[in-house]
Amino acid sequence: MPLMRSWVQSANSPDTDFPLNNLPCGVFSRKDEDPRCGVAIGDMILDVSALEEVGLLRLADEPVLDVPFWNEVMELGPDAWARLRILLLGFLTEGSDVKSQVEPYLVPQAGSRMHMPFLVSEYTDFYAGKHHAFNVGSMFRDPDNALPANWLHIPIGYNGRASSVVVSGTDVRRPLGQLKPPGSEGPVFGASQRFDFELEMGAVVGKASEGMVSVPEADTMIFGYVLLNDWSARDIQAWEYVPLGPFQAKATATTISPWIVMKAALEPFRTPTPAREVPLLPYLREPGPMLYDIALEVALAPEGKAETVISRTSYAEMYYSAAQQLAHHTSSGCAMNVGDLLGSGTISGPVRDSRGSLLELSWGGKEPLTLATGDERSFIADGDTIVLRGHCQGDGYRIGFGECRGKVVAAATLPDWAR
Ligand code: MN
Repeated sequence: MPLMRSWVQSANSPDTDFPLNNLPCGVFSRKDEDPRCGVAIGDMILDVSALEEVGLLRLADEPVLDVPFWNEVMELGPDAWARLRILLLGFLTEGSDVKSQVEPYLVPQAGSRMHMPFLVSEYTDFYAGKHHAFNVGSMFRDPDNALPANWLHIPIGYNGRASSVVVSGTDVRRPLGQLKPPGSEGPVFGASQRFDFELEMGAVVGKASEGMVSVPEADTMIFGYVLLNDWSARDIQAWEYVPLGPFQAKATATTISPWIVMKAALEPFRTPTPAREVPLLPYLREPGPMLYDIALEVALAPEGKAETVISRTSYAEMYYSAAQQLAHHTSSGCAMNVGDLLGSGTISGPVRDSRGSLLELSWGGKEPLTLATGDERSFIADGDTIVLRGHCQGDGYRIGFGECRGKVVAAATLPDWAR
């Protein structure tokens, strides 16, 4: 598919994240105004809440864009999502006959503040990248037993905390927790010394489930995707994870990018999951390509210094797709709701500089990274900013996700009663 040209000139640039082909959904505010729904186009935001208010954009009998989140649009279902896209394409396409009516509702992204684009109902995080699972298993257990016996059969996950999810730009405070330093007889309580990021994609569920759903049905329930950083305290994790998996190590914060890229924009970039090493049970089999070819990168910037890109990989590395994860999630009868967020699991590629966490990049701290600034890192230092970026490369355009950015600030002082 070629670039679809818009009368918004910045949207026709080959390196904008937001050409007319994209049209991602976000929530923004200007100065002291209340947050409202907007759609990114080039370096501008189309204020769709205002368009609905003046009667130019109508998706249902009742208003659905008069709230600062996209859940009510999701509730309308896939037919309405498709109708929204057609309406927006009509508004913004080059030569549109409603240009003069729509143009007053464009605001610059510069000077706008982004907010959470949807209300997170519940958050589940998976462990579906094989290179990551192998690397972590090699470090936490041993290379001969790296992949658990179930790994090639089940997209392994755990129930995370919706309350942990924050939007890009939110500072993240280094967690306190119970950990067992190397050589220590017993555990101590203190600030995590091995605080880390995880490069992931998040799938946003836009349609509730009734009972068990198939993989193709699950695919139709996904509204769109965001970048996701599943901040992880490795020392807390290593001590607490047996036998029920991560708990406090993952509960500090989960940062998402502010724009939900709707599935329709990603359609030209569908790609199959890698070849199965063992056949999956029928309920998990995919009828066609369900992953997307999304180029991903991670940058680290020490306080006040330039960033270094420390990893480059692709979402196509995942062993399981979000549709498979969602289908598996419903297999017990677990109800999935509008606004549920599914973390893909850390996306690591096969080589060192494609690893999606510092745990893997520094191999547990044994091989520290040297940044372009000369600084060395095994894990995140206070003041470091981590930025995730991602895009699909089209012919003369890209479908980008914007940035997923978070700065780590020093841990809180330990209260006297915790000493
Ligand atoms: Mn994770």
